[in-house]
Amino acid sequence: MKYVKLPDGTKVPALGQGTWMMGSAHNRATEVAALKEGIALGMTLIDTAEMYGEGAAEICVGEAIKGTPRESLFLVSKAYPQNASRKTLPKVCEASLKRLGTDYLDLYLLHWRGSVPFAETIETMEALQAAGKIRRWGVSNLDTDDMEEWIAAGGQACTTDQILYNLTRRGPEFDLIPWLRKHHMPVMAYSPVEQGRLLKNPALIALAQALNVTPAQLGLAWVMRHPDIMAIPKAGHVAHVKENFASLDIVLDDTILAELDKLFPAPTRKQHLAIL
Ligand code: NDP
Repeated sequence: MKYVKLPDGTKVPALGQGTWMMGSAHNRATEVAALKEGIALGMTLIDTAEMYGEGAAEICVGEAIKGTPRESLFLVSKAYPQNASRKTLPKVCEASLKRLGTDYLDLYLLHWRGSVPFAETIETMEALQAAGKIRRWGVSNLDTDDMEEWIAAGGQACTTDQILYNLTRRGPEFDLIPWLRKHHMPVMAYSPVEQGRLLKNPALIALAQALNVTPAQLGLAWVMRHPDIMAIPKAGHVAHVKENFASLDIVLDDTILAELDKLFPAPTRKQHLAIL
């Protein structure tokens, strides 16, 4: 496994597991098996949210982690912005813990920006941290100007910004990623294979074939090419988990990186942060 260092020095796997769309009754057993396989391989960072299946994904994760020593896992969940208030955040955090079957989260994120003042959310996150309910907190889907505001509201201790980032979504490279780097916050890249759409890109397929890897492996290795970027692909099938895990073995040399830059150009101007 390759690791990314968090601001507090903790090392977390650069390749984690996403869970959006997981937890339906129909697919649950297959998904639990996929998550378990990922854990066994060392993809112990698991990203979920109260939003995913309105709790169903957290229940699915809870089932998958049963029997795994808690300290070997890094569990991330996210709160709806409308729940990120002094009054509601502690309650929804407790509900997430219950669904996951654990007594703390390693990282709790504000899912996106809403109308609750940042200062109130930050103060409540800090109270949850002091109470031992969460180990760290951070944000998701905040663009550079939002991050500036978050910091101004007292949010310097933010662990990460979880953002949409992949070969077809390079906008954050222009300003947001450099900003996060300057503030020593690693990036957690969501939808790293663009929800599967990237894998149908003919040019990527051809390049991957020439390199004897799969498009998913190439796309993931590219996202994780910097030491401060984690990728959290969602894979609901064991075969996909195994395939994605092997992306950690890929070394992208300058020639391959230049080829990918040609196919998926880096941004030359500010683009507003896209959200899925
Ligand atoms: P991903 O880019 O991770 O793509 C997931 C899709 O790709 C699934 O359909 C999956 O199929 C497929 N896939 C994965 N690996 C392979 C493979 N090796 N070969 C073929 N297909 C593959 O999209 P997500 O939107 O799910 O993003 C990942 C995670 O990021 C989410 O699950 C969630 O945890 C988080 N996220 C956070 C957001 C936020 O607002 N903070 C927004 C969006 C996502 P299958 O399941 O069949 O294996």
